[in-house]
Amino acid sequence: MNLLNFSTIYPDEASCKAKWKDMRDSQGVKCIHCGSTEHYWKSDKECYECKRCKYRQGLRANTIMQKTEKDSIYRYILFRHKNHIIKS
Ligand SMILES: [Zn+2]
Repeated sequence: MNLLNFSTIYPDEASCKAKWKDMRDSQGVKCIHCGSTEHYWKSDKECYECKRCKYRQGLRANTIMQKTEKDSIYRYILFRHKNHIIKS
C-alpha cells in the first residue's frame, strides 16, 4: 500500500485509531497486571478492562506505541507497521 492508497483508506486519526484497535483485538490483549486475555472494551474511556482483575489499559499499552503520548502519531505508526504492533 502506498501513501495515496493509505490516505484514502485511512483519511483521519479516527479511522487510524479504529484500525489500531482492530489490530490489537486480532493480535490479542493481555492484561499487564494479571496476564488474563479476556477484556471488555470501555468505549467511553477508550481502554480495555480486564474481566478478571478490572485493571484498565489504554489502546497503546504493550504495543510499539506504549511510550507515545500523542494520538496524532497513529497514522504514521499504522502506515509503517502494518501487521505487528504488539511488543514481544
Ligand atoms: Zn487482569
